[in-house]
Amino acid sequence: MTVAPEQTAESSTQQPVHTRALIIGTGFSGLGMAIELQRRGVEFVILEKAAEIGGTWRDNTYPGCACDIPSHMYSFSFEPKPDWQHMWSFQPEIFDYLKGVTDKYGLRRYIQFNSHVDRAHWDDDELRWHVFTKDGHEFVAQFVVSGVGGLHIPLIPEFDGLDEYRDAGGAAFHSAQWDHSVDLTGKRVAIIGTGASAIQIVPELVLRDAGVADQDIELAVAFMQRGAEPGDPVGVGQAERHQRGAAAIFADLVVKLLQSSLRARHRHDVRALPRKRPRRGVTDAARGTGDEGDAGGEGFCHGVALFAVVPAKAGTHTP
Ligand SMILES: Cc1cc2nc3c(=O)[nH]c(=O)nc-3n(C[C@H](O)[C@H](O)[C@H](O)COP(=O)(O)OP(=O)(O)OC[C@H]3O[C@@H](n4cnc5c(N)ncnc54)[C@H](O)[C@@H]3O)c2cc1C
Repeated sequence: MTVAPEQTAESSTQQPVHTRALIIGTGFSGLGMAIELQRRGVEFVILEKAAEIGGTWRDNTYPGCACDIPSHMYSFSFEPKPDWQHMWSFQPEIFDYLKGVTDKYGLRRYIQFNSHVDRAHWDDDELRWHVFTKDGHEFVAQFVVSGVGGLHIPLIPEFDGLDEYRDAGGAAFHSAQWDHSVDLTGKRVAIIGTGASAIQIVPELVLRDAGVADQDIELAVAFMQRGAEPGDPVGVGQAERHQRGAAAIFADLVVKLLQSSLRARHRHDVRALPRKRPRRGVTDAARGTGDEGDAGGEGFCHGVALFAVVPAKAGTHTP
C-alpha cells in the first residue's frame, strides 16, 4: 500500500477521489493519525474545513490563551520539544509547534483545505465510505477517521437583548472567536463563564488595564501565577533545556505520576472523591465580589467564556 500521491489530495475534479483512509480535521488528532498512517504506509487524504492546520490552536487566539496540561505532556510523544518557553505554553508557541510538525512530516500535500465535510454514508455492498464536502466533492474510502474535535464550535447562549446591544454599538464575542479589532482599554468587560478560558483571559485583561476594578486585580493575578514566567526554564534545568532526554524523562515522570494517581483513585468509590469547585479568585474575579462561591462548575472546561464589551461610561471604572 502506498501513500496517496500529491495530486490526489489536491484534486479539484468532480470525480470521486478514492483513498484507503480519510481523515477529517487537522488538529492534534488528525495530524497525529496522519503521521501514524504515513509511518505505516497507508494511503490517506485529510479534509480540513479551514484554510490552515491547527484546530483548537489555530482558532483560539484570545489573550492569555494557553494549554493547562504541561507542554512536555501536551505534545506528541514522538515529537518532544525540549525548549518549550513555558511550562504551560501559550497559543502561538503551540500553534507553531503543530505547524512545524506538519511541515516536518510533509503533511500539507495530503491536506485539502477549505473542505468542509457535511455528510458521509457507508455502502454495505462496496464496503466503502462515501464522504461529501459542502462544495460538492466526493471521497470514497475504506476507513474514515474523525478528528473534528469537541470544542471548536463555540456555544453562544440566547441572551435577551443581545441583538439590540450589538445594534447599539456594544461588542460581544466568544473567547474562541476573539475580535482583536475591539480595543478593550478603558472598557467595562463582562465575562460569562468561569472555566479554563476565563481564568486565562481575566489576568491578561487586568494586566492590559482593561477596566477591571482594583480589588479584583489582586485576586485574579494572585490566582494566575503560573509555575514559570516567560523565558524561564520549564520543567528541565537551564543546562538541560536543549537535551531531548530531559524532556523525555520529565514526560515519563508525569505519566508515571498520573498512572499511579489513577490506580490509587480507582481503588476508591467514585462517590468518595472530592467534588471539584471553582478555585477561589476565578469566581471572585468573574463575579466582582470578594466572596468565595460555587459558580456551579465541575472543574474546568475550555471554550465556555463569552465576552461582552460595553462602551465605558465616565466614572464607571478605574482606568
Ligand atoms: C483554549 C484551549 C486550551 C486547551 N488546553 C488543553 C490542554 O491543556 N490539554 C488538553 O488535553 N486539552 C486541551 N484543550 C482541548 C483541545 O481541544 C484538545 O486537547 C485538542 O487540541 C483537540 O484536538 P482535535 O484534533 O481533537 O480537535 P480540534 O483541535 O478541535 O481540531 C478539529 C479540526 O477539525 C476541523 N473540522 C471540524 N469539523 C470539520 C468538518 N466537518 N470538515 C472538515 N474539517 C472539520 C476543524 O477546523 C479543526 O481544524 C484545550 C482547548 C482549548 C479551546
